[in-house]
Amino acid sequence: MKYKRILLKLSGEALMGDKSYGIDPVRLQQYTQEIKKVHDMGVEVAIVIGGGNIFRGVQAEKSGIDRVQGDYMGMLATLINAMALQSALEQGGMYTRLMSGIKIESVCEPFIRRRAIRHLEKGRIVIFGAGIGNPYFTTDSTASLRAIEVEADIVLKGTRVDGVYTADPEKDSTATKYKTISFHEVYEKNLNVMDMTAFTLCQENNLPIIVFDMNVAGNLSKLVQGEEIGTLITS
Ligand code: UDP
Repeated sequence: MKYKRILLKLSGEALMGDKSYGIDPVRLQQYTQEIKKVHDMGVEVAIVIGGGNIFRGVQAEKSGIDRVQGDYMGMLATLINAMALQSALEQGGMYTRLMSGIKIESVCEPFIRRRAIRHLEKGRIVIFGAGIGNPYFTTDSTASLRAIEVEADIVLKGTRVDGVYTADPEKDSTATKYKTISFHEVYEKNLNVMDMTAFTLCQENNLPIIVFDMNVAGNLSKLVQGEEIGTLITS
């Protein structure tokens, strides 16, 4: 196995599937199967899931809701997704723990770094919900921070695009994909990989990122075995 411990970042939007809001049960099952494959290979799996399919803090201001309040609403949205994923993974026969950045003790554990590491060592899939628990951050920043904290080998950012392109491939048909790219080049070319806070955390801590298409069956397991899929971003 190329990676022993991974941090898988899934966006909330990805969970929508073809719907315009909420959670698509078919997509949830697909992701469960993909995660099970790598877990069965003995890879330690930590997951951060976004909340964009339900609510984002930036949307709040447009609706007359205070930004900070909106961010907390966004964090709660990530927890809803995390709970759905936890349930699906457990129905798939995996042991899981949901750790939250905000204390919601009747539902999940608070995030405690040592405990998270212990869960991973015991083969439990750890889902980090509610972001880092602070407004003005994103779940990408959560993914970078938690990956560093639990000493993951890599951040695997599962998206609906199969890597980092010279331009947005959905808008520009001449865009080409990078197989690998350095952190420095991403900055220089102003490419959109993650928000800058998240990206800088990875760069400063030498934590590589792979951006890949999570919707292609088998991609995740190929990645952990070292196949070159998506775009690898390293120092
Ligand atoms: N959020 C936050 N702090 C965090 C993580 C998330 O305030 O540490 C809020 C923020 O409003 C964000 C929302 O939760 O817009 C949902 O997360 P995100 O937008 O990262 O989800 P994704 O785009 O991955 O679906």
